[in-house]
Amino acid sequence: MPCKICNKKTRKLINFGNFPVAHRFKKKNQKEKKSKLALSCCPKCNLVQLEKLFPLTDLRPRFEWINYNEPEEHLDKLVNIISKLKGINKNSVISGVSYKEHTTLGRLKKKGFKNIWSLDMKKDLDIKLKKFNLETIQDKISNANINKILKNKKKSDVLIARHILEHSYNTKDFIQSLKNLVNESGYIIFEVPDCSKALSDCDYTSIWEEHVLYFTENSLKKLLIDQGLNISYFEIYKYSYENIMIIITKIKKSKNFKKIYKKKTPININWKNLKKDRFLVRNKIQKYRKENYKICLFGTGHSAFTYLNLTKIHDLIDIVIDDDKHKKNYYLPNSNLKIQNSSVLKKFTKLCLILGVNSESEKKILLRLKKIKSKLVLYSVYKRSKYSF
Ligand SMILES: [Zn+2]
Repeated sequence: MPCKICNKKTRKLINFGNFPVAHRFKKKNQKEKKSKLALSCCPKCNLVQLEKLFPLTDLRPRFEWINYNEPEEHLDKLVNIISKLKGINKNSVISGVSYKEHTTLGRLKKKGFKNIWSLDMKKDLDIKLKKFNLETIQDKISNANINKILKNKKKSDVLIARHILEHSYNTKDFIQSLKNLVNESGYIIFEVPDCSKALSDCDYTSIWEEHVLYFTENSLKKLLIDQGLNISYFEIYKYSYENIMIIITKIKKSKNFKKIYKKKTPININWKNLKKDRFLVRNKIQKYRKENYKICLFGTGHSAFTYLNLTKIHDLIDIVIDDDKHKKNYYLPNSNLKIQNSSVLKKFTKLCLILGVNSESEKKILLRLKKIKSKLVLYSVYKRSKYSF
């Protein structure tokens, strides 16, 4: 498949196989639609990307209760940076592209910014669906009628787009739409996951059919510069499991603009390493199975789901736990594993838990597990957890 950005032939990294969508929780023996999950890298853009895109209609949520939470501790700092941007004052027009910006815009409102708007999903983007998420929003933005949007809204001085660029199917059109919503001297702020550690350390939990692009500092800066944007600010904000990159870009070239690229990140996700990892994980779990431990996956978000799919350990899992009441009695996609409530864990004297939750939930779960009298062994699907395999 050609590169999504420059159309050049990409280098294939790995084809993981065919999988259903992570949020398609199912009934027993329900038939599943699967699509190819494979990664490739463009030699020109240095950009790791899904080799083939999942059909957008498959990514649309079936349930209302699926939520994704990105960490927000850094937003106070971001809001401070925004308020100090050159040319920005309390009368500047600040805007956001999706519901992901509500918390940032709320903070700015509190600070005294008066002209704030958000894209209206119905009126501006013409989304008529009841259940949709970023897969639909990004598509509608890429194809948006900008003149219609700007009939009721002023062009932005600062436009914020958190955690959506990596979902974009038509990235160039997506960025162009954002540029059209911003004043000539305005800023566009992007926030995306930093995948450099995932790519160099083979953290499979970062791979997700909804993430089309896997950015590193190098590839993010290169993409935005190639799309005519100039970088005014860049920061990698460190979080326990996945760092995020914040980049503030400007349409107008500043005089002291420099092309700053960081060197390329090594990419170690390949068949050889995946085989090695599969072998290692299987051996560790099997050791405990032989000692009559019950093997339990705790958490059924997309990271845990992908980890199971890529390491191929479904046959070693006895129990799948998720305390989200909506998921009760559903089965984990791509498996015959029924989702149960954590209260069942009391029944077992020996437990090997594979934690598939983010670091905040991990802390909470560990506190609760202290009350369980079972013998416990802990692992995590995340490479950066201290319980990593
Ligand atoms: Zn390319």
